[in-house]
Amino acid sequence: MLMFRAMRYSGLPRSVLLLRFASSIVSRKHDYDLVVLGGGSGGLACAKEAVEYGARVLCFDYVKPTPAGTKWGVGGTCVNVGCIPKKLMHQASLLGEAVHEAVAYGWNVNDRDIKPNWKKLIQSVQNHIKSVNWVTRVDLRDKQVEYVNSMGAFVDAHTIEYRTKQGERKQLSAENVVIAVGGRPRYPLIPGAIEFGITSDDIFSYETEPGRTLVVGAGYVGLECACFLKGLGYEPTVMVRSIVLRGFDRQMSELLAAMMTDRGIPFLNTCIPTAVQRQANGSLLVKYLNTTTQKEESGVFDTVLWAIGRKGLTEDLNLVAAGVKTVNDKIAVDHTEATNVPHIYAVGDIIYGRPELTPVAILSGRLLARRLFAGSKQLMDYTDVATTVFTPLEYSCVGMSEEMAIEKLGAENIEVFHGYYKPTEFFIPQKSVRYCYLKAVAEVSGDQKILGLHYMGPVAGEVIQGFAAALKSGLTVKTLLNTVGIHPTTAEEFTRLSITKRSGRDPTPASCCS
Ligand code: FAD
Ligand code: NDP
Repeated sequence: MLMFRAMRYSGLPRSVLLLRFASSIVSRKHDYDLVVLGGGSGGLACAKEAVEYGARVLCFDYVKPTPAGTKWGVGGTCVNVGCIPKKLMHQASLLGEAVHEAVAYGWNVNDRDIKPNWKKLIQSVQNHIKSVNWVTRVDLRDKQVEYVNSMGAFVDAHTIEYRTKQGERKQLSAENVVIAVGGRPRYPLIPGAIEFGITSDDIFSYETEPGRTLVVGAGYVGLECACFLKGLGYEPTVMVRSIVLRGFDRQMSELLAAMMTDRGIPFLNTCIPTAVQRQANGSLLVKYLNTTTQKEESGVFDTVLWAIGRKGLTEDLNLVAAGVKTVNDKIAVDHTEATNVPHIYAVGDIIYGRPELTPVAILSGRLLARRLFAGSKQLMDYTDVATTVFTPLEYSCVGMSEEMAIEKLGAENIEVFHGYYKPTEFFIPQKSVRYCYLKAVAEVSGDQKILGLHYMGPVAGEVIQGFAAALKSGLTVKTLLNTVGIHPTTAEEFTRLSITKRSGRDPTPASCCS
């Protein structure tokens, strides 16, 4: 079975692989073929894939509690304090909206004064997470990945030290090491930040209702948290240092911010926090500087949530002992995910300059294991990674932003097809269609190869996922427009994109079906 899988990925004949396995067993001078530091998306994927090819694998995973005391089990950020609880909160918030829509559709529901039960929601989310933690542990045991719930650190390039639950120091040696330690939220260096603020590491298990929440940061985390809090009936405000969603297509980012403003989420633009103080009544006084007016201002909130980016967890690894170089708090790797020390690799969020996304961590971990233990040559392709911002109208994209296409090809060499659209299901509850918009950024000549797709609307992630595969396969405008749509869906709008920005024609549709 192992041989069969290895043959599949390496393309090497059985006899060559048998020789390789045999020589690796004879030369086993280390306790493990692979030690993985970090049991999150990337580390677990790599460890589980490696045992499939007969490697002896051990995986460390340890979570330091947050300053507010929050801690969690095995599985890393995505499962415990990232994608999964975030998506559940997003869904909870969408359901609040759906109750009102149900009434418009004839459901006999009392939709006045509906309020979620925060504690119950948190409990349900945490119950789900605990079940995933349990399944993860069972899976590791069944697959015979040794799991150690401890912090691992280098003693030298092949030796890892850790403490047992009893406090005893132990060491083990590894032929290969994969660093998959991920990151944790940053706190600003201002008075009261750590004492009074929380982060995404705390919000999904926060027992207190958040109330008036100042969300500092306008990246994915800030915008997503602000939106689900609003949908759940709380009062978030977003503090923006420069622009929302830096790095994303500007038109789409601004449309998204306008959609949030329309839904009653205020933005404090060009502001940076300077101090947080607890007031006598328990509320938090946040002082901040408006960098446009240069005025000191302040506001009163119940919760302050820092969403100002994440730092890589390199500081506890003793990388100096292994000779691994860092860039700021991340690790630079080559195209094979190797660090400057050839048998030490890194995958996931800890890699410098790569997308911090779960599927990226998983695929790079899996491919690395196949290269290490199954003779595969396949490298991770970090280009054209699709992504979604889970706001009430979601924003999803793959490929280049309009700005990036202009920068790379020149404005005269690109064509942007765009359009607003009206989702059928929005009509009866009279939901706003003002922000339902999509565009395709393409080459201007030939079959017009598509460089980027951008969609804002319901279930954007589900819509863009399939188009991402098409884009990676060289999708052209010609093919897109020759694709028969599925009616009535919102994804079919991509097959009806006929208006170019250059034409100056009105991209607003007259009806849903023409
Ligand atoms: P992690 O999952 O962070 O795992 C690293 C693990 O290693 C952790 O458990 C850590 O405690 C442990 N560790 C650290 N140091 C050591 C050590 N020395 N020894 C042992 N263990 C150690 N991505 C998406 O694709 N979609 C989303 O919708 C999405 N939503 C997100 C929402 C939020 C709020 C956040 C914060 C992130 C979100 N992400 C999302 C990003 C995604 O969670 C990360 O990209 C992904 O979890 C990275 O995986 P990783 O394996 O690199 O690191
Ligand atoms: P980001 O780096 O995306 O955003 C950080 C935000 O905080 C920016 O708006 C930044 O502003 C601002 N900021 C930084 N420092 C300060 C400061 N000192 N004071 C005030 N504002 C500040 O980080 P996130 O934490 O939002 O997300 C981290 C990563 O997690 C993402 O890159 C993403 O890959 C992943 N993620 C993915 C999700 C998804 O797939 N849906 C969801 C959530 C996270 P400025 O632009 O001025 O620097």
